[in-house]
Amino acid sequence: MASNLTDRLSRLVKTMRGQARITEDNVQDMLREVRMALLEADVALPVVRDFIARVKERALGQEVVGSLSPGQAFVGIVHRELAATMGAGVADINLATQPPAVILMAGLQGAGKTTTTAKLAKHLIERRKKKVLTVSADVYRPAAIDQLKVVTRQAGAEWFPSSASDQPLAIAQAALDHARRHYHDVLIVDTAGRLAIDEKLMAEIRDLHAALKPVETLFVVDAMQGQDAVNTAKAFREALPLTGIVLTKLDGDARGGAALSVKTIAGAPIKFAGVSEKIDGLEVFDAERHAGRVLGMGDIVGLVEEVQKGVDMAAAQKLADKVKSGTGFDLNDFLSQISQMKKMGGLGGLMDKLPSQLTGKAGQIGPAEMERAERDVRRMEGIICSMTPLERRKPEILKATRKRRIAAGAGVQVQDVNRLLNQFEQMRDMMKKMKGGGMMKMMKRMAG
Ligand code: GDP
Repeated sequence: MASNLTDRLSRLVKTMRGQARITEDNVQDMLREVRMALLEADVALPVVRDFIARVKERALGQEVVGSLSPGQAFVGIVHRELAATMGAGVADINLATQPPAVILMAGLQGAGKTTTTAKLAKHLIERRKKKVLTVSADVYRPAAIDQLKVVTRQAGAEWFPSSASDQPLAIAQAALDHARRHYHDVLIVDTAGRLAIDEKLMAEIRDLHAALKPVETLFVVDAMQGQDAVNTAKAFREALPLTGIVLTKLDGDARGGAALSVKTIAGAPIKFAGVSEKIDGLEVFDAERHAGRVLGMGDIVGLVEEVQKGVDMAAAQKLADKVKSGTGFDLNDFLSQISQMKKMGGLGGLMDKLPSQLTGKAGQIGPAEMERAERDVRRMEGIICSMTPLERRKPEILKATRKRRIAAGAGVQVQDVNRLLNQFEQMRDMMKKMKGGGMMKMMKRMAG
């Protein structure tokens, strides 16, 4: 879904170039693309309808600011609405109750309940400093009980033994008593899953819920399941008052489209994301960041934060003014641009965070290319630092002798010095054309 939506949107951004604002006409085309992408991704129809209506309302009322094109502004709106659909802010686990706080795990077989039980135990031990007990009420699969025992040990939590010959309700009661007597802060109850919804199973988990009065009832669902995830979510919501969702296997092929439907259908916030099979592969779910991932746009939020903290806006403005006033862009300015880039986490960090629409690259840039780019930047810095102040201000005086001296000083070849001078000239020309100073414009565009 991600590649689909991203492809569609970047095509739109291109076709929208040159149009001044978002209008009733052009917004229809964009909305159609988003709608198709969501439907193809198996997002439930009511969720899609609702989503499209909200994006439309936002888009039509939206002023397109500064240097953003309507296409880019629209992508921004879709991004914000995706985040809003998946949740607002970050919802951690609620333990506000008389201990032991009970967490009931619900979901189909294979969704990742047992794995998540252990991951969650580890999370609560490490992040919340809690004493955690786990128990399995899955009496249908003895292997599931053993599995929980193994992963609970890995998590550093305590495991309460149960057996396939016990009743789920009796197991849960015994575990709760044990947790009370031994002052556990949290009891996590893993339950039986089936391959499909069945009434007996639902009745069983309803009984468990009534007896345990859990403070959290977490619905664990596999992100790769698409439309099936929606049906499952619906069934569990009807059976139980869910308080949160854990979306597992987000590290798989599915780029998280399921998140869009399940929150709406299950009527509960997504609290955690499973991102690997390993015991530490659990993250507190962050809708804002996940929306960027669904859109395939990289981590936009992260980028804007970095830009704000790393870049000296005043310096960028001074540079812009200088270029505008015709004082000329010299090698000192070029050097300061290079160091600004480094402040933003280096080229690698920057490229990772930029949406492909901005970098113009179809896929991810490989680590080898990235490393080469970083090396180039360091070499450029070395060359400029080997120049005298006069040479930096007036690069036109650089003839063969000076170039040889600089190359020797920086430990590079004369060709490298020439290449740098060419790049500098290209940038100077570009900045003359842009008049306002490229850096400033670029920053504003990304921060806005
Ligand atoms: P249960 O039947 O609901 O208890 O599911 P399990 O916990 O046994 O998980 C089923 C399979 O999914 C196991 O092979 C897990 O290792 C795997 N799994 C669970 N969560 C994740 C995850 O977040 N990422 C990946 N890649 N695999 C996961």
